[in-house]
Amino acid sequence: MTVYLVGAGPGDPGLLTARALELIASADVVIHDRLIPAGALDNVRDDAEVIYVGKEGGGEQVPQDETNRLIVEHASAGRSVVRLKGGDPFVFGRGGEEAQVLRAAGIPYEVVPGVTAGVAAPAYAGVPVTQRGMASAVAFVTGHEDPAKPETALDWPGLAGFPGTLVFYMGVRALPRIAEQLVAGGRSPDEPVLIVERGTLSGQRTVAGTLATIAQRADDAAVRPPSITLVGPVAALEDELAWLDAARPLGGLCIAVTRARAQASALAVRLRALGADVVEAPAIRTEPLPVEVGDLRAYDLICLTSPNGAHRLFEEIRDARALAGPTIAVIGPGTARALREHGIEADIVPERSVAESLVDALRDVPVRRALIARAEEARDVLPDALQARGAEVDVLALYRTVAEPLSPDARAAALNADYATFTSASSVRFFAEAAGTLEGPSLVSIGPATSAELRRQGMEPDIEAAEHTPDGLVAALVSDAARGRGTGR
Ligand code: SAH
Repeated sequence: MTVYLVGAGPGDPGLLTARALELIASADVVIHDRLIPAGALDNVRDDAEVIYVGKEGGGEQVPQDETNRLIVEHASAGRSVVRLKGGDPFVFGRGGEEAQVLRAAGIPYEVVPGVTAGVAAPAYAGVPVTQRGMASAVAFVTGHEDPAKPETALDWPGLAGFPGTLVFYMGVRALPRIAEQLVAGGRSPDEPVLIVERGTLSGQRTVAGTLATIAQRADDAAVRPPSITLVGPVAALEDELAWLDAARPLGGLCIAVTRARAQASALAVRLRALGADVVEAPAIRTEPLPVEVGDLRAYDLICLTSPNGAHRLFEEIRDARALAGPTIAVIGPGTARALREHGIEADIVPERSVAESLVDALRDVPVRRALIARAEEARDVLPDALQARGAEVDVLALYRTVAEPLSPDARAAALNADYATFTSASSVRFFAEAAGTLEGPSLVSIGPATSAELRRQGMEPDIEAAEHTPDGLVAALVSDAARGRGTGR
């Protein structure tokens, strides 16, 4: 079967190619290195074999011969093999050697290029590797070789005289000698240099200098692999063109999401897009309750208080015409959106997403008989207020919220996060119960009911969203991060 030599890009999961994702999802066997993006293997088939051949923290890399043997063995047994490598497989990735082995063994292969770190890391620092009038050539160079060794394969005087940008891969340790050799070969000691550490990954960092100063600066900053070193006038463009901090206002922050797994991912996606590292630590799960939904046209008002409730109601009624007639009032734009998916436009959506606001919004609406469809554990603010006005009120509990077991890893990661987010009182209650504490992260609440539950647990929320929706919570996080807070307590 075919072997696919696939590049996984420099680390940001968004830089995996469509072709790479498609092949990973269909492979029988995936053989991968260490530097592959988080989540790259999320969609491997359940019955696929995943083999790691990279270095285990300071340990030994699986020898290349052994990797070659594995690839040939699996392909010869009729399995489709994805050989997944960081960046591009043919740029310092030994992909060429593996292709030679496959050619010799008569095994068909395809190459799927990836976004290489030497271009992507500078780009994420705002630096183009070529630029009109500044650099019309670019060289990818290994920094692995010790330039002091007499047997070095690199032509240092040639590199020093190269008319364009030099991009060094793997050069962290050799940096002092690389800089020396380039100056000795005739490059100006004032030539700009930029190191990009963890390019495209959360915690990306740059260290800028010149050939004369960079070794000392890298040492002071304790630069670690993986890092790319750029040499050339373009390296100075970072000052002018850096964009990452503006685009990723949550960059470098770790944020725990405690809401139910089914709803966590949408929030996690938004937070990741803003640069955050997200820990999913769902503390709750919803469980549908058996209900008898009678004739809804008997009501003149139907209230829905969550997207979950809206979807659950439609599982029961199926036909949107069952809701024809009564006034439909909802709490939260998310609930209105959920109803819209089922072909119903809510008549009333109060500005603030809390029960008290809905009570206000209904003040001038005549109500004789109301149905409130909601979670079993919801507060009674709304039914109490309607009853006090003399309305006949039925409460339909469509689902209940139950505890989701929290793994020790998820617990530890959430408590170590910079922020922990809570989108309901029940997520506070169940998280506190499962974790045994809320100490550690800055606590972010979606609104007053959630904040009240935090206080019941003996904690003051550090942030409460002004708009009580997931979007409002994200906005509150972004402005808190801009003030440089949120590194936990
Ligand atoms: N095939 C890969 C390179 C593999 S060599 C590619 O095309 O990108 C490994 C070296 O790549 C590292 O030592 C480092 O110099 C560079 N590198 C890989 N990922 C990086 C990243 N996210 N940021 C900076 N440099 C990276």
